[in-house]
Amino acid sequence: MRFSALRILQEGLSGNKGWRPHWRDPAPKSEYDIVVIGGGGHGLSTAYYLAKEHGLSNVAVLEKRYLGGGNVGRNTTIVRANYFLPGNSEFYSHSLKLWEGLEKDLNYNVMHSQRGLINLFHSDGQRDAFARRGNAMVNQGDDAELLDRAGVQRYLPYLDFDNVRFPVYGGLLHKRGGTARHDAVAWGYARGASDRGVDLIQNCEVTGIDIANGKVTGVQTTRGAIRAKKVAIVVAGRSGQVAAMAGMRLPIESHILQAFVTEGLKPVINHVVSFGMGHFYISQSDKGGLVFGGDLDFYPSYAQRGNLPMAEHVMEAAMTLMPMIGKAKVLRSWGGIMDMTPDGSPIIDKTDTEGLFIDCGWCYGGFKAVPGSGFSFAHLIATGQHHAPAARFRLDRFRTGVGLMDEEGTGAQHNLH
Ligand SMILES: Cc1cc2nc3c(=O)[nH]c(=O)nc-3n(C[C@H](O)[C@H](O)[C@H](O)COP(=O)(O)OP(=O)(O)OC[C@H]3O[C@@H](n4cnc5c(N)ncnc54)[C@H](O)[C@@H]3O)c2cc1C
Repeated sequence: MRFSALRILQEGLSGNKGWRPHWRDPAPKSEYDIVVIGGGGHGLSTAYYLAKEHGLSNVAVLEKRYLGGGNVGRNTTIVRANYFLPGNSEFYSHSLKLWEGLEKDLNYNVMHSQRGLINLFHSDGQRDAFARRGNAMVNQGDDAELLDRAGVQRYLPYLDFDNVRFPVYGGLLHKRGGTARHDAVAWGYARGASDRGVDLIQNCEVTGIDIANGKVTGVQTTRGAIRAKKVAIVVAGRSGQVAAMAGMRLPIESHILQAFVTEGLKPVINHVVSFGMGHFYISQSDKGGLVFGGDLDFYPSYAQRGNLPMAEHVMEAAMTLMPMIGKAKVLRSWGGIMDMTPDGSPIIDKTDTEGLFIDCGWCYGGFKAVPGSGFSFAHLIATGQHHAPAARFRLDRFRTGVGLMDEEGTGAQHNLH
């Protein structure tokens, strides 16, 4: 079922009776070549690229709840390629290029909107750091433009520029940054994978990983045992728990990240904006809600909800930066479980068990990585070789200390400042 303007017109004229479910709903088979655990953005994109790039379609994605019900449908949808360190920089650059062709590739409207991202700075030191980051981005082949105060004023006139504590000095503009409709990304990949023969099995929780003689042989699930030659763990905030089924202890802590949305308003915020003096960032959804968030709640947890101190902190930062926001009513808030690595960078690697692979540690930035991660993980699973842009995402860097990528410069504190 292809989508096109003509198709929409035809369906509109014929009572919309021709639309079909976007993916098949098969019963699990007893055996697959590859089982992907986790039907989030990364699991679904991995399955899609396994089928599309490597012709591997005897694949099942096992999801314990419903597709897209995890962080892929709970995030604040920011897509960007403004990383600083070698290793991350080339990976996110590759991922953004995939985003730029995604709607055509999937024949699905994921509402990718390159509206521009502006990171504000509020001191000379911060300006220097952003200038360095901008140079790294340009050297990587991506775009970056350093704005002075007047430059920011042109784009974001509603900010409190003369705030006594945190005056705005300028900002780093990344024009190709922006947003996308999060759950459409999950649905688009699901549809593309299913069309290519991948079985998407919902309400199927993996409860055990079968290993014999150092080699993976399959998984135990709430819908029975499934044999597999290869198994891929892609479960974001549940990575520690699922890896433990294979006897692994990961360098991952699970933390809560909250987000908030206001009632729908007329267009007022045309970019993605982030505050440099507190953890606060904001954009406006196509429905009109102001979507914003802040830092992690400061304790590890598997609860998909946060606590009030962080809500207060985020609101304070919002009011400091753009007092006009005080007039908007918050409609709802929610939380997701973040898989935090000690250096803030992800893992895409083989494990010590033959045939068992892992993709995790996306911290609070893994939505923008969905295309790149799936592409690189599929490459690793299919060929046994690391894909060049993701070649530094090795698991053993936490054991050896070699190759750590402390992107935020926060040290081994699971990104807690
Ligand atoms: C509030 C918030 C804001 C965010 N904002 C951004 C942002 O603006 N930009 C950005 O780039 N990133 C953002 N992120 C991060 C991003 O959402 C995540 O890094 C990314 O979605 C994680 O990968 P995923 O989509 O595969 O995870 P998920 O969607 O969580 O997928 C994992 C899946 O595994 C399933 N699973 C778990 N255990 C099992 C099991 N035993 N058996 C079977 N299935 C299992 C889960 O049910 C889940 O569906 C944000 C996250 C949150 C919570």
